[in-house]
Amino acid sequence: MNAPVTALEASLLDRSADFPILSQAVRGKRLAYLDNGATTQKPSVVIDALTEFYEHSNANIHRGVHWLSQHATDRYEEGREQVRRLLNAPKAKDIIFTRGTTESINLVAQTWGLQLKAGDEILVTDMEHHSNIVPWQLLCERTGAVLRHAKVLDDGELDVADFRSQLNEHTRLVGLAHVSNALGTVNPVADLVRMAHAAGALVLVDGAQAVAHAKVDVQALDCDFYAFSGHKIYGPTGIGALYVRSAILADLPPWQGGGDMIRTVSFEHSTWASGPQRFEAGTANIAGAVVLGVAIDYVLGVGLDRIAAHEAVLLNEATERMQALPGVRIIGTAPHKAGILSFLVDDIHPHDLGTILDTEGVAIRAGHHCAMPLMTRFGIPGTARASFALYNDSRDVDALVAGVQKAQKLFGVSR
Ligand code: PMP
Repeated sequence: MNAPVTALEASLLDRSADFPILSQAVRGKRLAYLDNGATTQKPSVVIDALTEFYEHSNANIHRGVHWLSQHATDRYEEGREQVRRLLNAPKAKDIIFTRGTTESINLVAQTWGLQLKAGDEILVTDMEHHSNIVPWQLLCERTGAVLRHAKVLDDGELDVADFRSQLNEHTRLVGLAHVSNALGTVNPVADLVRMAHAAGALVLVDGAQAVAHAKVDVQALDCDFYAFSGHKIYGPTGIGALYVRSAILADLPPWQGGGDMIRTVSFEHSTWASGPQRFEAGTANIAGAVVLGVAIDYVLGVGLDRIAAHEAVLLNEATERMQALPGVRIIGTAPHKAGILSFLVDDIHPHDLGTILDTEGVAIRAGHHCAMPLMTRFGIPGTARASFALYNDSRDVDALVAGVQKAQKLFGVSR
């Protein structure tokens, strides 16, 4: 993901034309939207596709005999094919639509996970988002399995030696962030998968912060599950996906029961649909899946290599300029990072910093980033976090740096 720092395209695109929300002034200032780790803004093609779907294609899917239903089904399945393309999954049938990363991980915990027994172990890392911790805790409470966690080094890298030492014959599953939302660390997923598989464990990768920022190839990673959210890749909220290795998916028990996930139903015995439909009970987020496909097509059209290179340049620029400010401490300085910059400024509370930056039109996130164990590991209550996307440019970095300097002045800590 740290693409070589070559010529920065000042902006990858005409941001105001592609992203209408970005041309709106906030608090009288140009909006510097640097909260992309939380959610990304949507390009016009995505916004328009939602209207277009409801104007021309809306119907319920999979069970209609009429033209519109078949058309909507085709478009929904085209969305699945776009997700397959994004992840380079072998087959579209390996992709289950969910509400997002959180639901994807809960789905695995509540289907595959139910076979666990007392003494089995799940290994996560200290840099996981709560959504890759709590579902496993709930599963451990139900099954008697044990949740273990691998350490993070002072610079925010995973302690690979500790990770390896915690794998053993009891480890059944490893849950791992591809990119840390709080630190930006990119984990060496393929290597970690190899280690986990050698110990006999499956691997679930939380790709929430990865898919919009670099090419992901689940076959090259060789992971067993890969989860992500549509809203973090320029798509709508309420839709996401889970890739499951096909041999595992074939044996997964159903999750929620209802329409669309069955083959036959009687009061004595019901049988289940095969493939991803078994996990898509009820009327799905049809428009969401269609429009997610449009968002993916947009991202692949811009090119993930270009996006990665662009964001790497911005991250470097922001890191260098922030580091040059006395009193700024960057949390997460791993050699391999994606476009996330977490920092503290003197003893200014991150929330105060976020509020002052907001008055300058700079949108950042402040707090524990749903990674409380990681904050505990660093002995801090939270951080301020700037996170980049393809539409950010140097003016956003200028606004961030100027906003931090203003905060230092207001708090009387400027030097
Ligand atoms: N994992 C990571 C690494 C994340 O950054 C997030 C969102 N902040 C999630 C999981 C949860 O994603 P969602 O809320 O879209 O389910």
